[in-house]
Amino acid sequence: MEKRDLKTWRRVFGKVKGAFGETDFDKKVIKVDRSKHKNKALYNVPKKDSSLINTLVHENMHAEYPKMTEKQVKKKTRTKLKKMGRKQKLKVYSQFK
Ligand SMILES: [Zn+2]
Repeated sequence: MEKRDLKTWRRVFGKVKGAFGETDFDKKVIKVDRSKHKNKALYNVPKKDSSLINTLVHENMHAEYPKMTEKQVKKKTRTKLKKMGRKQKLKVYSQFK
């Protein structure tokens, strides 16, 4: 599957309506709502999928692989997170301003 380069994308924390995060392909902006992650029961998302790091990796994945379905992104995010160490996770956090 074709992977996109996110060099020209901006990644920010901010308010998102109705979701943990969003990927705007026109503006090339990934926005993640940090405050939403305090309420883990939101949107019927299972606990394992509702951590902040999960959302960051998830939204990155949407931007990198625009053709992936929501189901694929969820599955791949879980697999990726299992392989990621502390350093790699910190790197993902540092992408967001
Ligand atoms: Zn998604």
